[in-house]
Amino acid sequence: MTLQKKLIIFSMSALMLVACGNKKDDSAQTDSPEKDNIEHVATEDSDSKEKTATFKYEVNQDTWQIVPLKDSNASEKVALLTFDDTPDKHGLEIAQKLDKLGVPAIFFVNAMFLDRPGGEEMLKGIHKLGFEIGNHTYNHPDLTTLSYEEQLKEIKGVNDRVEEIIGLRPRFLRPPFGLFNETTLKIMDEEKMTIMNWTYGYDWEEQYQNGAALADIMVNTEFLSSGANLLMHDRSWTLDAQEGIISGLRDKGYTFVDPAEIISKREMNN
Ligand SMILES: [Zn+2]
Repeated sequence: MTLQKKLIIFSMSALMLVACGNKKDDSAQTDSPEKDNIEHVATEDSDSKEKTATFKYEVNQDTWQIVPLKDSNASEKVALLTFDDTPDKHGLEIAQKLDKLGVPAIFFVNAMFLDRPGGEEMLKGIHKLGFEIGNHTYNHPDLTTLSYEEQLKEIKGVNDRVEEIIGLRPRFLRPPFGLFNETTLKIMDEEKMTIMNWTYGYDWEEQYQNGAALADIMVNTEFLSSGANLLMHDRSWTLDAQEGIISGLRDKGYTFVDPAEIISKREMNN
């Protein structure tokens, strides 16, 4: 590994720590925080957009980049859009906007939002537009402070709740603040899930809480590189920034990964 690469990874880790460091201010509101190419056909309920995908990518468990599977011949120059702390206020609007723009994404849900009036309907709406639903825990705790039983409730509780509503169990976990431990990994094995942190994000920082500033930094940050895994949240300025982020990344030659093409532990064990 070159020194430059080491420095980049160190910088990315530092950036993630910044995201994690926000937890005390925002508590439950935000975390501002050798496989073969396997054929996979998933048919969802009839009123959803039908999805048929071949796995082409995996999540690098050190850098959290989205990287092509060996022999997949998939493009390296991709970005993945991810939205956390949803469906709160703007998750469905973000999904509708992305649908119009023709860009896939993954929405990491907290089940506490599903228990509010209208929460289930918002989740159904996002799912029916064809977006992948990920697990962001039930109540947005720091998992590393919890016992096995408590972590299981936070993680499996979301899988059960989401399955109840849309008939599918999330394949990816985004731990709040990016924090997890050996206990979390044990539950990942049991639930056949893969952890997906992120490479960069800015929408919790005050100076980027407007659409133009957020779009500018998301496209022009030094952290943008192949396999970029963009962390965003269910926020109004994040909704406003989508056109700018998508056109900016397209202008730089990036295409967008469909999460349905990213393999998880669930399919690796099949
Ligand atoms: Zn979060």
